[in-house]
Amino acid sequence: MIIKAIRTGIVSIPLRKPFKTALRTLEHLRSVVVAVDTDTGTTGLGEAPPTGAVTGDSLGGIRGAIHEFIAPRLVGKDIANLDDTLNTLDAACLKNTSAKAAVDIAVHDLFGKLYGIPLFRLFGGFRNRIETDLTISVNSPEEMARDAREAVGRGFRILKTKVGKEPTLDLARIRAVREAVGPDVVIRLDANQGWTPREAVRIMRTLEAADLGIELVEQPVPAHDFEGLKEVRDGIDTPVLADESVFSGLDAERLIALRAADFLNIKLMKTGGLRGARRLAALAELHAVPCFMGCMMESKLSVTAAAHLACGRAIITRYDLDSPSLCAADPVRGGAVLDGAWLSLPEVPGLGVEGIDGVEWD
Ligand code: MG
Repeated sequence: MIIKAIRTGIVSIPLRKPFKTALRTLEHLRSVVVAVDTDTGTTGLGEAPPTGAVTGDSLGGIRGAIHEFIAPRLVGKDIANLDDTLNTLDAACLKNTSAKAAVDIAVHDLFGKLYGIPLFRLFGGFRNRIETDLTISVNSPEEMARDAREAVGRGFRILKTKVGKEPTLDLARIRAVREAVGPDVVIRLDANQGWTPREAVRIMRTLEAADLGIELVEQPVPAHDFEGLKEVRDGIDTPVLADESVFSGLDAERLIALRAADFLNIKLMKTGGLRGARRLAALAELHAVPCFMGCMMESKLSVTAAAHLACGRAIITRYDLDSPSLCAADPVRGGAVLDGAWLSLPEVPGLGVEGIDGVEWD
């Protein structure tokens, strides 16, 4: 199965409501869709959204990297030699982890189709369904309480509450969400780098004293501040999850050596795709550090790829794959089956995605 051509297009999906974090506000999900065509007539699909605030990638940058750097080197490569194809992809250019992720996903899709195996089986086959959390955007405490109640009504039992924009308001926000949903719903926090280490310790100590039952806090401090992350972890009782601090296995290695995080959040757009994510997960396995599988504002296409890895590996114990649930429509045919908070994977080769509607191909 030889790669003949790589095409890209754009898909745009309206969100149910604007998505707000400490870093950005989004009203639409816009993403690059990649199709890798082969000489057998089989096509592999992948996707990468631009997440400028985290990866630095833009729609134009993702497409540019694919067409200028990646496609010329990958055309002619044999899908059966997965390692050679992925080594060539990695070496095509520096950084550009989102562009690489989109192509890596499509190449894995083809490899699975070539050998008739669903990717989660190839990755280890530990489970075939997972329960995701749902993100509650940063807003007034009243609006966040309303959104939290609505989420629980839709079947979500784990809420990820965004905080970190105005530290003084955060306590009121969490209190409002906890009061709205009662004691049984899991609440995790994501500060998206919004706090200094000192603020993080002070705010988290206050939340701990208020007994609001916070499961963990994600990325309290700026991405580069590994020592600050450790300071927070050492200064509070609540577990700490590293997200923007950990792109690759090399970042994970440093964080683990520093003992700066209790959990690592794996996202395909940071690792450059499934192979980088598998390497990160393998390192976490060696050190028994449990992982999250997360996503950016992605359609169900690349979220299905993330779900395959998350289902494949036992070390990936928590799931933040909610972006399809934040969308007002799902243009992806096939792939993960969504039922409330649950994503399940059918026994279909590769990703199991049949296609995606509404893509403007170039
Ligand atoms: Mg995060």
